[in-house]
Amino acid sequence: MPDARKSLLQLREEWRGCMRCPLGEKRETSNGRMVFGEGVPGGILFIGEGPGVNESIEGRPFVGRSGSLLRNAINKLGLAHCSYISNVVSCRSFGPEYDNAGQLRTRFNRRTGTHDIVLKDEPPPAAAVEACLGRLYEEIYIVDPILIVTLGGEAIKALLRRSVSVKELRGTTVEIRVPGVWTVPDLTSKGNWSRKQHGQVIWPTMQNYVRYLTYIAFHPSYVLRDGANEAFGNPKQRFIEDMHMITDIYYRTLKEVHGIDGVRLTQLIPDDIIEED
Ligand code: SF4
Repeated sequence: MPDARKSLLQLREEWRGCMRCPLGEKRETSNGRMVFGEGVPGGILFIGEGPGVNESIEGRPFVGRSGSLLRNAINKLGLAHCSYISNVVSCRSFGPEYDNAGQLRTRFNRRTGTHDIVLKDEPPPAAAVEACLGRLYEEIYIVDPILIVTLGGEAIKALLRRSVSVKELRGTTVEIRVPGVWTVPDLTSKGNWSRKQHGQVIWPTMQNYVRYLTYIAFHPSYVLRDGANEAFGNPKQRFIEDMHMITDIYYRTLKEVHGIDGVRLTQLIPDDIIEED
């Protein structure tokens, strides 16, 4: 069956230098980099909100403090061989930081001798989420994971296409529907699978949709911020539970749905999975 799925490299090339939303201009004026997903396709796809300052400098997802928390947990649970990490938007969303008096915060830059405006990460605007959704859908479709894990509210909202409370849904699974790239062969009016166009044989195809099992988890930055705070439901403990559940669901789905007896790299769950190295 013909399959119009692109490669991840092709997708990355198509979005290189993207200016489809205002974050593209911010990226260019701040000398930031677009952050594409990375990892091993076909297993667990972790989706966060968007790159922060460290990610924008390095051009890689989840390389800051919250990234090291996530990558540490993935490594300690032996999931690195089947994990891919990406974000809802590919460019950093940020704005100026203000103090309590409403004044712009500045920081003295010894190198240039100037006072630079302090910038802070911000949730991506709705227009950016919408503009980047095509890239995310296609990335999901190419990665074709057994299990998607959304990290934080922005990712699950973008995929469900509605406003949700991640505190209420955390720890549950839903099914999300991703538009496939034209992959289902379409018969011509004469009952043929192929037809000639401009002297070339083409395989007409129809749009299809793919359903993906999706686990809803907290974002690691929330875990870092509110840690063991009981008033917030102890996010650190919930994150550990999430990582255990994700591992179990992945191996169970691999076996029951795909008939693959995956070799678990860790049988025992270490209790220090989120301690930083
Ligand atoms: S966030 Fe996405 S849509 Fe916006 S400029 Fe970056 S790549 Fe393009």
